Amino acid sequence: MEEILPGTLYLVATPIGNLGDITYRAVHILKNVDLIAAEDTRKSRILLKHYLITTQLISYHSYNLKKQTPQLIRRLKKGQSLALISDAGTPGISDPGYQLVQAAIDESLRVVPIPGASALLAALVASGLPSNRFVYEGFLPLKKGRKTRLAQLAQEERTIVLYESPHRIQRTLRDLIEAFGDRSCVLARELTKMYEEMHRGTLSALLELANDKTLKGEMVLVIAGKEKDKKAT
Ligand code: SAM
Repeated sequence: MEEILPGTLYLVATPIGNLGDITYRAVHILKNVDLIAAEDTRKSRILLKHYLITTQLISYHSYNLKKQTPQLIRRLKKGQSLALISDAGTPGISDPGYQLVQAAIDESLRVVPIPGASALLAALVASGLPSNRFVYEGFLPLKKGRKTRLAQLAQEERTIVLYESPHRIQRTLRDLIEAFGDRSCVLARELTKMYEEMHRGTLSALLELANDKTLKGEMVLVIAGKEKDKKAT
């Protein structure tokens, strides 16, 4: 199996629900690095226990990354190998990662991605909306900049992928309808889990659904891009 390189930062994708969605390579890396930096050590312990991974865990979360980044860089510079994981999916995608990668690159350290699950790609490819060109916007801003972002996105011709939480889904669907008008849209819920569901329809139909029944769990919205303006004849 692959040799673990000293002084290397491995970005390891973990499952987004179904514990089976992890690669052999990811398990090998997690078992053999010197240290794993995890967003939530308590949550990650469940995954690590399942795969009999006993590597030392350390917390790397948005609230401690200012302090932790230089400490992790110091360890890498000493020759230790480090794997970064998030609560779910790919680190750096709406999860901590970017700052550590930047800092590692600044110090000419090796950064190795170990690809795997990410909710955005799973939702996009199953949505049935064009997936050859798309834009990932993560979570919309909650207050400042929300209107401007929505107005910009209204002009976007590529398929749009958003993350949203269940308690904000109604508000977001309402705001999207106001900014975009009605459009084809898919709400992918609880992907890879027992209650996985794909609701395909329009923004207004999904809003009706969200008004009728409480939509729980983790969700991704995939929205059709703006139709190309037809050339005036
Ligand atoms: N790093 C992750 C990734 O690669 O997808 C994303 C982390 S972000 C903090 C969490 C958000 O991802 C959730 O609020 C939800 O929008 C989306 N998500 C994560 N797991 C999901 C799942 N199983 N089904 C649907 N959406 C999911």
